[in-house]
This record gives sequence, structure tokens and C-alpha cells, in this order.
Amino acid sequence: MKQIKVMCDCGGELYVTEEDFGGEIECCRCGSDMWIPETEEAILQHNFETEKTHENMHFTGKVRIMIRDECGQEKCVIDEASQDNLEWIIKGVEASYPEAHVYTERVENQRYLAEQFMLDDNF
Ligand SMILES: [Zn+2]
Repeated sequence: MKQIKVMCDCGGELYVTEEDFGGEIECCRCGSDMWIPETEEAILQHNFETEKTHENMHFTGKVRIMIRDECGQEKCVIDEASQDNLEWIIKGVEASYPEAHVYTERVENQRYLAEQFMLDDNF
């Protein structure tokens, strides 16, 4: 029977079949009872929303300020800049490196990602 992925709020991935739709399944990762939407479409929508929430959880709120110089070399100028004064920080960097293209990258919560990786690996 076809297996369908349902994401738990903790980010764990559970696999169910059509028979499980509308029921509950215990998440093997966080142990909570997870409600399974009644249709495959609703499950896909649920997964989409859960993933979106999770992306925001990974995001630490800090950004890395990067430059790409005229030779195409990429370099990190500021490792963890807060977003509060970001506009000014970028202006400052642009002034220091007038030839370079300045851009930002979101800093992800590496510890969280590592934990998730370990857990998923145990499945
Ligand atoms: Zn869970």
C-alpha cells in the first residue's frame, strides 16, 4: 500500500497509509500523538505549513554578510549580524568594498540541524 509522509510539529517524519487518514499516530521522535488529516491533499497542505514553521525555527534571526568581489571570490565579512541595523551595516560594508557585490545569508541554527540529522539517521 502507498505510504504517505506526514510531518509532526517537531519536524519528525511519519509514514502512514490511507487507512490511517483521520486517525492518530504516535510520533516516534517526540512521542506526542499526531493527528492525521483526512485526505492526501490536506496532508500535503499540513506538511507544507509544518515545514514552513520549521524553517523559521532553524533561522536564528542573525544574518551573515557576504561579499563577492570583482574576481567572483566570495567572502564572509560579518559572521553574525543582527537584523536590527542591517541596512546600516550593509551600507557600511558597501562603503568599505565599493567594488564588491554585498549580499546576506541567513544564519541557521546548526545545532538544531545536527540534532535533526542524528535523529533522522536513527530511523
Ligand atoms: Zn513529533
